[in-house]
Amino acid sequence: MDNSEIITLTQTHVANTYARFPIAIVRGAGTRVWDANGKEYLDFVSGLAVCNPGHCHPKVVEAIKNQAERLLHVSNLYHIGPQAELAALLCANSFADRAFFCNSGAEANEAAIKLARKYFSSRGVDRFQVITMKKSFHGRTFATLAATGQKKVQVGFEPLLETFTYVPFNDLVAIKEAITEKTAAVLTEPIQGEGGVNLPDDDYLKGLRKICNDAGVLLIFDEVQVGVGRTGRLFAYENYGVEPDIMTLAKGLGGGMAIGAMLAKESVAEAFGPGSHATTFGGNPLASAAAKAAVEVVIEEGMLENCRTVSSYLIDRLGSLRDKYSFIKEVRGKGLIIGMAMDLPALPIVNGCMERGLLLIGAGEFVLRFLPALIVTKAEVDEMMEILTSVLDGMSVD
Ligand SMILES: *Cc1c(COP(=O)(O)O)cnc(C)c1O
Repeated sequence: MDNSEIITLTQTHVANTYARFPIAIVRGAGTRVWDANGKEYLDFVSGLAVCNPGHCHPKVVEAIKNQAERLLHVSNLYHIGPQAELAALLCANSFADRAFFCNSGAEANEAAIKLARKYFSSRGVDRFQVITMKKSFHGRTFATLAATGQKKVQVGFEPLLETFTYVPFNDLVAIKEAITEKTAAVLTEPIQGEGGVNLPDDDYLKGLRKICNDAGVLLIFDEVQVGVGRTGRLFAYENYGVEPDIMTLAKGLGGGMAIGAMLAKESVAEAFGPGSHATTFGGNPLASAAAKAAVEVVIEEGMLENCRTVSSYLIDRLGSLRDKYSFIKEVRGKGLIIGMAMDLPALPIVNGCMERGLLLIGAGEFVLRFLPALIVTKAEVDEMMEILTSVLDGMSVD
């Protein structure tokens, strides 16, 4: 099938929940993908921060092949070797003592919200409210769309769960004022992804940690987008000298396979016992084997170092565009999640770049987002810049 055949079939039979770009990607390797008509693209989206080690990393593919030949699924009724090994790997490299596995970011956040409630209810304490941030994104299930501080994901689905209170990101006073005797947790992305690549101010996350400690409230970091190497550290919180009580992962965790995780310290994780929470597919052998390989290659193949090196180069090169194009307001980011805020909508630029063989994506209406694989080179940044500037040359604020 070529692009148009796949598009026709999609438009006829697939639920119409995405405004999809008019191409079908059928193959990927490293930082490149190809569409069904054979056209090549330099990929600065990476399946939306999923394929962190690059598309079809050989070690991830090998782990999947080996596991696929042995055992695909067995149920959490039994012990699962690859799941146990993945949990050990994640705990050895993070603040956490235990991991619960699921299949997506939203499910990981559901688990985190449930654990926070259980932590208090198991102590006989009536704390259930969760404070989240405006412009946050936590998923599309009922709890997580209510946790998300953006009206656009909630509209039409009311009444929402009334468990969430929203405060502006980077506002410690607002957090202090929002905490009540019913507050169980503060849930935040360390860096907001979908909300526009918004970075925490210096010491904001430290301040948040202290406020939570003083109030006896749990701190949950949603690292679904920024975890697993995306910021140049294995986990984003490492950049800020702060540890959460609970952390959620998904996108980058499986290197392209669907898997989510909720990690917690023992003192919090112990609130979950047999029967507290469950999922059929979570931590299945195939996804776990892929994730173990994906995390290992990020750690062992110099991807964190490369991420930091190329990050500075990319931020410098994008920053220099501000001299030439007055509609560019700010370039901000950490590692290889970088946003370019503009006075122009991002979509026409994304479309123009796609026509010229470069995949980019927006973060909100006016921010262009750059999420290349962690193996991206400076030469590929130069290649990206050439295409981007050729498209920006045709843009103007009217
Ligand atoms: C993508 C995302 C989610 C939701 O993950 P799904 O796998 O789509 O359910 C949650 N939180 C953050 C920060 C995300 O970027």
